[in-house]
Amino acid sequence: YAKDAGGNEVRFFEPAMKTTVTARATLDSELHEALKHNQFVLHYQPQVNGQGQVVGAEALIRWQHPVRGLLPPAGFIEVAEQTGLIVPIGLWALEEACRQLDRWSRDARYADLILSVNVSARQFRRHDFAEEVRNVLIRTGANPTRLKLELTESLLHDKVNETISKMKSLAAIGIQFSMDDFGTGFSSLSYMAQLPLNQLKIDKFFVHCIGINAKVELIIQTIIGMARNLDLEVVAEGVETGAQLAFLQTHGCNLCQGYLFGKPMTLPHFEAQFERRLASIR
Ligand code: C2E
Ligand code: MG
Ligand code: MG
Ligand code: MG
Repeated sequence: YAKDAGGNEVRFFEPAMKTTVTARATLDSELHEALKHNQFVLHYQPQVNGQGQVVGAEALIRWQHPVRGLLPPAGFIEVAEQTGLIVPIGLWALEEACRQLDRWSRDARYADLILSVNVSARQFRRHDFAEEVRNVLIRTGANPTRLKLELTESLLHDKVNETISKMKSLAAIGIQFSMDDFGTGFSSLSYMAQLPLNQLKIDKFFVHCIGINAKVELIIQTIIGMARNLDLEVVAEGVETGAQLAFLQTHGCNLCQGYLFGKPMTLPHFEAQFERRLASIR
């Protein structure tokens, strides 16, 4: 390693390392501060059905950094996963989302919206995760049947029985589950039938291949067919063009999420767009 000229940062010259050790430590302490000073915010991205109605939203976390501005999760979720801070950060996101669900439940226009919240594997694997979720629901008053938790295939690598029983205990109180980024991990398909899943989420990698790669188009059709055979909802993420939407609808994927319908937005923006859509449909 070598000392940076002029700075006090020690860099390891290893290409495989994305963040230097000191940069990671700095980020970790900044993330602690961020939690303490309430610097995280949720943005909301609409999910639209075949009739063009917004039927749900995905809550996506951002960090309102005091100096660097609004930061997307790509810059901090991975480090938070490594240090374990993802557990309190994820809990914050869940609680904030549930508070919003409870507010929406009191407005007939919003009362049926489903809100999806991302849960990292490290957070899900905590022994008290199910209890934490139940406590959040009690604290916020949110209706569990409007909450959907997005999990990733990494939960299927090991200790699958624990994952299944935890999912079942939460499904029993009405919580729904979606398998996020489906097809990009290495999930064993043999587990798919055992999980109390409600939805498969087609990763944007596949969606962005529509019109470009015929083999990937066939994979998408296969995923949609599998979801239908297993009686699961299927939602496509990353839908940006009318051609992608047309392909997905032709092949039976009716729920879509992507820039074509709206980017992740602040709550006021999301609600303004939602109400404009309602007005134009009526
Ligand atoms: P994800 O759950 O797969 O979320 C989808 C990502 O695709 C989001 O990125 C979203 O902004 C982006 N996206 C949506 N539509 C389009 C589109 O049409 N085109 C393109 N190019 N991208 C689109 P974002 O918000 O940066 O989030 C990245 C990832 O960070 C999420 O991927 C999720 O894994 C993670 N994340 C976000 N919020 C949370 C959270 O509260 N907890 C945890 N554990 N992870 C989170
Ligand atoms: Mg997601
Ligand atoms: Mg996703
Ligand atoms: Mg993705």
